[in-house]
Amino acid sequence: METAQRPVTIVTGGSRGIGAATVAALARSGHDVVVGYLADADAAARVVADATSVGVRAVAVQADVTVPAEVDRLFATDLGPATGLVANAGLTAHLGDLADTPVDVVRTVLEVNLLGVVLCCRRAAQLMSTDRGGTGGAIVAVSSSAATLGAAHEYVHYAAAKAGVDALVVGLAKELAPVGVRVNGVAPGLVRTDIHAAAGDPGRLDRVVDRVPMGRAGEPEEIAPAIVWLLGPQARYVTGTVVRVAGGL
Ligand code: NAP
Repeated sequence: METAQRPVTIVTGGSRGIGAATVAALARSGHDVVVGYLADADAAARVVADATSVGVRAVAVQADVTVPAEVDRLFATDLGPATGLVANAGLTAHLGDLADTPVDVVRTVLEVNLLGVVLCCRRAAQLMSTDRGGTGGAIVAVSSSAATLGAAHEYVHYAAAKAGVDALVVGLAKELAPVGVRVNGVAPGLVRTDIHAAAGDPGRLDRVVDRVPMGRAGEPEEIAPAIVWLLGPQARYVTGTVVRVAGGL
C-alpha cells in the first residue's frame, strides 16, 4: 500500500502487552503506527523496530495520557493526521479491598484508565471529525471484563473506571457517528501481560484462571485481532459497542 493511502493509528500503551501485540497486528494489516508509552523507551523502540520491519512507518512517542499537552503530542507526529486511535494505556497498580487501597493509588487508577481515555478520545474527536476539518476515523477504547463483573476484593475502583470507558463508548459513538468517526470498545478478561506483576502479584493469573470458562488466560495476540477488526473497513457499520474477548469470563 502506498504511504499516502495507509491508515495512521495511535496506540497508547503500545510499548508492552496488549498494546504491543496490537501495534504488531496493525502493522501487518498495513497501518502506520504511533506507539505511545509512558516510561519504557527500550520496549517502545523494540515495538517500533518490529513494525517497521514489515514495511510500514512507526514512531514512538513518550506521552502520559493524563496530561493534555502530552496527549496532543501523540497526534502531532510526522506520520500525518491520525485516522485511528486505540486508547489502551492502563494499569491496575494494586490488589485489595477498596478500604485498604491508598487514595493516591485510587486517584492514579481512575486518572489513567478513565481520564486518560477521555482525553485521548477528546483529541481524536477534535482532529478526526469531518465537521472540524478531519477526514473521519475510528476509535477503540480498551475496557475490561471487570467493568461488568465489579472486581470485588481486587480493584473495584479500576472496574468503575472501565465501566466509565464503556459509557464513554456509548455516548461518544452517538456524538461522532454523523461526523465520520466510529467509537467502540474491546473488553479483555484475564490476559498474560506484565500488568499483574506491576500490581504486586505476578502469580495472579495462575491463581484466578479457574474463573475463566475456557480454563486458561488469554494472550495479547488473541485480543489484538478484535481491535484491528473494529478499526478497519469490515466494521464500517459497527459503532457504540464493546466486544468482549475474555474466554467466556
Ligand atoms: P501492560 O502490559 O502493563 O502495559 C501497560 C502499557 O500502558 C505500557 O505500554 C505502559 O507504558 C502504558 N502506560 C501505563 N500508564 C501510562 C500512562 N499514564 N500514560 C501512557 N501510557 C501508560 O498492560 P496490559 O495488560 O497490556 O493492559 C493494556 C490494557 O488492557 C489496559 O487498559 C488494561 O486495563 C486492559 N486490560 C488488561 C487485562 C489483562 O489481564 N492484562 C485485562 C483486561 C483489560 P510503559 O511501557 O512505558 O510503562
